[in-house]
Order: sequence, then C-alpha cells, then structure tokens
Amino acid sequence: MCEASVDGSNPVTDPLLITIDGPAGAGKTTVSRLLAEQLDYRYLDTGALYRSVAYGILINGIDFEDDAALIAHLKEFDLTTHAHKNEFRLLWKDQDITDQIRTPEISMMASVVSAKPAVRNFLLNIQREMGKDKALVCEGRDMGTVIFPQADIKFFLDADPHARACRRYKETSPKAAVTFEDISRDMLQRDQNDRQRVLSPLRPADDAIRIDCTDIDPHAVVVRMMNCIKSKVRERKTSRF
Ligand code: C5P
Repeated sequence: MCEASVDGSNPVTDPLLITIDGPAGAGKTTVSRLLAEQLDYRYLDTGALYRSVAYGILINGIDFEDDAALIAHLKEFDLTTHAHKNEFRLLWKDQDITDQIRTPEISMMASVVSAKPAVRNFLLNIQREMGKDKALVCEGRDMGTVIFPQADIKFFLDADPHARACRRYKETSPKAAVTFEDISRDMLQRDQNDRQRVLSPLRPADDAIRIDCTDIDPHAVVVRMMNCIKSKVRERKTSRF
C-alpha cells in the first residue's frame, strides 16, 4: 500500500514511464488521462491502436485468418498517432478515426485480431517508439508484461465484472442501440479472449501494483497512484546515497 499525503502538486521531476493494464471497463482510460494531466505527461491508448487495425480490416474486408493477406494489408496500413498532453488521436490516411473506432463491432474485432502475431508485431514498434523518451502514461493489456517490462512503475486496475459492464454501458452512445446485457456479454467474451490467448495474455506483471476500483472513483484511484509514484521516487532518491 502506498500511503502518503497528496497536495496536488507534481513533485516527480525525472521523467517516468508508467504502465496501466487491466480488463475492459476497469476505468483505465479515465484514470490514465487524469494521471497524465497531473504529471504533464503524454498518454498512449494502446487499445485504440488495436481498434484502428480492426477498423482497417473491417473497412477493407480483409480475411484476417489468411496470414499473407493480413501481413500485406498491414504493410500498407497508413496509421499516424498524435499524442499531445493527455490527448491521443489516430489518423488513418489523414482521416481522424479516434471517435469512430468506439463501436461494439470494432471492440469485438479488436479482441479477435489482437491475438494475431502479425498484428501485435505491427504495433510493437509504434508503442516502444512512444515510450523511449519516457514521460508517458500508457494503458493496455500487456504494457507492464511485454511492451515495457522495464517501466518505472506498473499498475493493474481491476473491478468486478458487473461494475465494469455498468461503466461501459454508461459510456455507450444511445445511437449504438445495445442493451446492458449485450455489453456485459461482449465484455466477458473479450476478457476471456484477452486472458486466454497465447501471445501477450492479459495478466498483471509480477511487480505491478494492483488496484481494485469497484468502489472507488477515478479521482481517488489517481490519488492512490500518485502516492505510489511519490513513494517510488523517494525510495529511488534514498537508494542513490
Ligand atoms: O482497451 P480497449 O477496450 O480499447 O481494447 C480493445 C481490444 O484491444 C482489447 O479487448 C484487447 O483485445 C486489445 N488490446 C490488446 N493489447 C493491448 C490493448 C488492447 O490486445 N495492449
């Protein structure tokens, strides 16, 4: 547990690389953006990267079970990322697709294609490139285990499945015409896909700090994370002497 008082200032001077992993609906996006804002770091939403690949596959009608077709498609996939403060946007062929990739169909397709080695390899360099200068909060499923095993501080955010489905339902636009049951079922299916796949399965890194946010709001989660970060920075300063 990281107990310390928090005064809202940013005492963290050396740039850090902070990872936040966890299942769908745990609140990673809200918390990551709040934390990035507080630390004045950039924010990387790796789920959005997998969603953009899923979007390209759907739009172009690619047979993703055909490895050669998938690899050929990814070679031509013209994706640009824009990370500025706690905003993360994606451009495909110069078109901003950040908001379009938030549909249930794309969520499910992202979960399916993210198990493909070609897709994970394609996105690996984009993620590592963004992490090389640190001063980054990144969220996903394998940030602390595979992409950035040397991260300065790792969190694993979880909540019970009902609370997670409620959050996702509240975030879903009424235009999507989906029921709470649809969301809950899809979310559990994605959890199972993400946890059971062979490549980069969803799991906490051994050195991750686990936070259950079933009953705490995102601001309280960020306070807890800031306390952990400050403790870690203090520990490091002490161990330098
Ligand atoms: O986080 P989000 O729900 O936007 O992620 C969409 C999907 O992308 C996840 O269900 C997961 O299958 C995949 N993903 C992944 N590895 C990551 C981030 C997301 O496999 N680092």
